Amino acid sequence: MLDQSKSPVGDAAQLDFLNALFDKGILVDTGVDGLYGRSGEFEDVLNRFDALVTKHGAADKAEAMRFPPAMSRKTFETSGYLKSFPQLAGTVHSFCGNDHDHTTLLERVATGEDWTKDQQATNVVLTPAACYPLYPVIAKRGPLPVEGRLFDLQSYCFRHEPSQDPARMQLFRMREYVRAGTQEQVLAFRESWLERGQKLMRSLGVPLEIDIANDPFFGRAGRMMKAGQREQGLKFELLIPITSTEKPTACLSFNYHQDHFGQTWGIETADGAVAHTACVGFGLERVTLALFKHHGLDLAKWPKAVTQELWG
Ligand code: ATP
Ligand code: ZN
Repeated sequence: MLDQSKSPVGDAAQLDFLNALFDKGILVDTGVDGLYGRSGEFEDVLNRFDALVTKHGAADKAEAMRFPPAMSRKTFETSGYLKSFPQLAGTVHSFCGNDHDHTTLLERVATGEDWTKDQQATNVVLTPAACYPLYPVIAKRGPLPVEGRLFDLQSYCFRHEPSQDPARMQLFRMREYVRAGTQEQVLAFRESWLERGQKLMRSLGVPLEIDIANDPFFGRAGRMMKAGQREQGLKFELLIPITSTEKPTACLSFNYHQDHFGQTWGIETADGAVAHTACVGFGLERVTLALFKHHGLDLAKWPKAVTQELWG
């Protein structure tokens, strides 16, 4: 059986780009696929892009909120993530033993035995998408105002998908706008970001296309969910070629959840109906990598129009 943690997937073009990024010190190897350090320049570009997103969304006056890269295990269980994506989840376990257990632990580490099997699950899991900690917070505030609500989020997210594709990390940052309201309100929000997202990315001089997409739902039941998601047009992605033109990378995504989270968390509209939600997600590392790919690894040589757009 293929052990994902030992047999990373990644083709030659992906590996070439990854190695070029390592050679330039833009990404820093940690010995684990998908887990990298970032250079100051990389962070600078990423933060400028993040600020550009803020600028393009400013008129909407979203409520900003920041959560740490981990969330309540209980919230995570209720969210239904394990039903759809058990393969991607990351849980936090800790040592909870006594002195005797401590001795055993150290012996196992010293002899190279598995020391992790007695670790116990904590109340914390790693955040899989920036919006997951938000929904119970919305619900707790009571029914939505007539105009609904709009939030601005950003978080490091974890997904267990080790890969030598530099654009598929295990820990990466996702910027999101999340809209809750009536079906009309959330669909209008998604529509406007489909337009704004393209305008924003075009201003940065990268080639792009929009396509219908699906989430990586797990297993046999997942196949049906993927097909259903596509048929109903629930997910769109803005794709940019990074290591392949045939298979461009999803850098922004535009998701309509229907009333899934409204049902799950008991979020109500002003007139007592189940709320609908939608989110737009910006993969901050992916966009940054796309910029390095298309404008070169040497930031000093980027086109003026692009640096002007980012640094103003
Ligand atoms: P993919 O289809 O490539 O697995 P996704 O559609 O599952 O990505 P979403 O769940 O929509 O991704 O996440 C929102 C955004 O986060 C994506 O548009 C992408 O830019 C970014 N993202 C998702 N997974 C990763 C990853 N493993 N590494 C870096 N960025 C990611
Ligand atoms: Zn996807």
